[in-house]
Amino acid sequence: MDDLKNIIRDIPDFPKKGIIFKDVTTLLADAKSFQRMIDLLAHRYIGEKIDQIVGIEARGFILGAALAYKLGTGITLVRKSGKLPYKTHQVTYDLEYGSDVLEIHEDAFKIGDRVIIADDLLATGGTMAAVIQLLDRAGAELVECAFLAELEFLNGRSKLPEGKVFSLLKF
Ligand code: 5GP
Repeated sequence: MDDLKNIIRDIPDFPKKGIIFKDVTTLLADAKSFQRMIDLLAHRYIGEKIDQIVGIEARGFILGAALAYKLGTGITLVRKSGKLPYKTHQVTYDLEYGSDVLEIHEDAFKIGDRVIIADDLLATGGTMAAVIQLLDRAGAELVECAFLAELEFLNGRSKLPEGKVFSLLKF
């Protein structure tokens, strides 16, 4: 797994001073690494009943779409406020400064649909916790949150349901 970890680069002071951002675009742009990431993630769920993948804007769309294709499911989008055209459920969640809104279409799922939520990175867990609230409202059952990478020192897992978090790479 070190090959995948090493191709992710650190960008100091992005998006603001003091933060070291994990830039996954280098992994996404490398054919072998991208394929390996998706194969490894998909392998975990092959044989399970999965009805839908949920991708979180924006990098979660990339992982989510490839995973959905591999598992033979559709993909549902969670987007920032005002981007989805039909009626939505909304959730407001706290950022370091202020708050943000995420949305999902009201009719995204059939009651009890089993879904995986995909995103590139687990940091504080606030984003994923908000998306889980959206899923609850929309009537889906969470199978697992699937991340490419996790920043373990931030302990984002503690905000998420126990036993339902998987990350391929840990920093
Ligand atoms: P959290 O809500 O867990 O603090 O932040 C996770 C969200 O912010 C994810 O949607 C992720 O894309 C983005 N994010 C936060 N920090 C990083 C980072 O260092 N690298 C990348 N690629 N995304 C990050």
